[in-house]
Amino acid sequence: MQQKRQPQRMCTGCGQMKDKRELIRVVRSPEGALAIDKKGKLPGRGAYLCPNADCLKKAVKTKRLERNLETPVSDEIMEALKKEIEAVD
Ligand SMILES: [Zn+2]
Repeated sequence: MQQKRQPQRMCTGCGQMKDKRELIRVVRSPEGALAIDKKGKLPGRGAYLCPNADCLKKAVKTKRLERNLETPVSDEIMEALKKEIEAVD
């Protein structure tokens, strides 16, 4: 029996490893701008989040999100992330 090998990434909120495609990717471009990477193709430093509000809250509260991205997370990106999570739910 062969197991499927999907690339796994760790959620910045809960710390669980999940299939990359199930996670939301936030990316910091080489210019330092943050964006939500819906296709997983943008270049830059990325952080991953489960599409749920608890993980987002945890990632922000522990400052793991901004630490992973090495840049503060703006309100604009927070709002965009919340919308993204709502869209998935
Ligand atoms: Zn999570």
